[in-house]
Amino acid sequence: NVSASTATSVSQDKLLGGLLPSAFDESSCQSRYKSNLYRKPSPFPLSPYLAQKLRKYEAYHKKCGPGTKRYRRAVKQLKAGRNADNSECKYVVWFPCNGLGNRMLTIASTFLYALLTDRVLLMHVSAEQEGLFCEPFPGSSWVLPGNFPQNNPQKLHIGAPESYANMLKSNVVRNDVDPASVPASSLPAYVYLHVEQFQLKLSDNVFCDEDQAMLGKFNWMILKSDSYFAPALFLTPMFEAELARMFPQKEAVFHHLGRYLFHPTNRVWGIIRRYYEAYLARVDEKIGFQIRIFPEKPIKFENMYDQLMRCVREQRLLPELGTAETTTATTNNATADAAAGNGKVKAVLIASLYSGYYEKIRGMYYESPTKSGEIVAVFQPSHEEQQQYTSNEHNQKALAEIYLLSYCDKITMSAWSTFGYVAYSFAGVKPWILLRPDWNRETSDVACVRSTSMEPCLHSPPILGCRAKRDVDVAAVKPYVRHCEDVGFGLKLF
Ligand code: GDP
Repeated sequence: NVSASTATSVSQDKLLGGLLPSAFDESSCQSRYKSNLYRKPSPFPLSPYLAQKLRKYEAYHKKCGPGTKRYRRAVKQLKAGRNADNSECKYVVWFPCNGLGNRMLTIASTFLYALLTDRVLLMHVSAEQEGLFCEPFPGSSWVLPGNFPQNNPQKLHIGAPESYANMLKSNVVRNDVDPASVPASSLPAYVYLHVEQFQLKLSDNVFCDEDQAMLGKFNWMILKSDSYFAPALFLTPMFEAELARMFPQKEAVFHHLGRYLFHPTNRVWGIIRRYYEAYLARVDEKIGFQIRIFPEKPIKFENMYDQLMRCVREQRLLPELGTAETTTATTNNATADAAAGNGKVKAVLIASLYSGYYEKIRGMYYESPTKSGEIVAVFQPSHEEQQQYTSNEHNQKALAEIYLLSYCDKITMSAWSTFGYVAYSFAGVKPWILLRPDWNRETSDVACVRSTSMEPCLHSPPILGCRAKRDVDVAAVKPYVRHCEDVGFGLKLF
């Protein structure tokens, strides 16, 4: 029956080969099933094992999530300061840190950690993040209820006495004893994991078996991170086998998890869809430029613009400019080249807080024709000038732009930017990265390099073998990680 098999394949496509659950009402979150229609099919097939694991997780989340008897019981224990033995449900509560790109990377890492350690992922949603994402788990919520007892983000810092590293120091917990001999009820009611970058390393260096065995005994874990720590989970021996089954292609970890978890709400989807349909839907090729200037490493506009243009030329990302005379008479043999590209439209989508790059590139293709006869159309959805971590409207635009970038066929991005990492991983394309000048220089000799992986970069790797005093180069000993093109000491899966 042809029509039945077509219908199955269409709905399978919509669910991204089983990545997405089918249980949702489509209209409540249109982006969930529509966003991917704007992209080429994923280059990475989903492992059936990961799909199975996600369905099992969804059932667990529904059983233990907010609004359930089990959740209420677990919160009661937490309030009473007790860590119960044999608890049916365990939780990891994510707290935000930094901008949207960072947050998406850490939510995905925390979710992966939850999958590996049988915890329910709950998210502290601050005002600026409200209404950005749809619920990813059917029949339940990932939003931490407002009356959660440990709801104060101010308490979550490197010196917090409840942090695992500090609990080890003060002998509240030990990682040199057999965890089986430690009753869960002898432990504090929750543990805080501070997975932030500190002196270029992850501060709570817990990616080893002894620590994980002990951490597994806590029913409640609170986690704050500024880093894409998923690669660190791959370095933890006890998770290795499970991760290999979930991700036969390690390059696709964020690609799959991100596309599973993050779906812009109808409001944000409206911004994305309107922009896409107005400017990008009918072009022949879409090229995204993401220019991020970090306050800690300011780069002059002229220098950044020159570097971008060098990259464009060297990598032939955009058609060369011609002169008006060479491109007017397309019937002439001498202009056969021009005729070949004639009428083709390349769209350049610029994401940047500033409008200068857009103005210059647009002006260039407005004033001069291209040698090939292709048309270059340049767009920039917004230029917010300032980063505003606490504005909800600002974050809606940022999310919309991450999505619009992720629909591009090619992406060129600023080094170090998690905003760009999310976009190219969603897209499943390897970006060109505009390298950061060395610390004592204003310009970079190399304009850009092609990333060798579609995975985001972990800027601050953990120390391999937690008790080892020696600092081993992880990339030299693990075949599935390498150093990042933009952050030399960073690590990425490939
Ligand atoms: P990173 O700092 O580049 O790693 O990315 P983050 O997303 O974590 O933080 C940067 C924040 O600045 C974003 O979340 C936005 O709020 C804002 N921002 C930076 N670049 C852009 C841009 O091109 N467009 C928009 N709309 N916002 C941006």
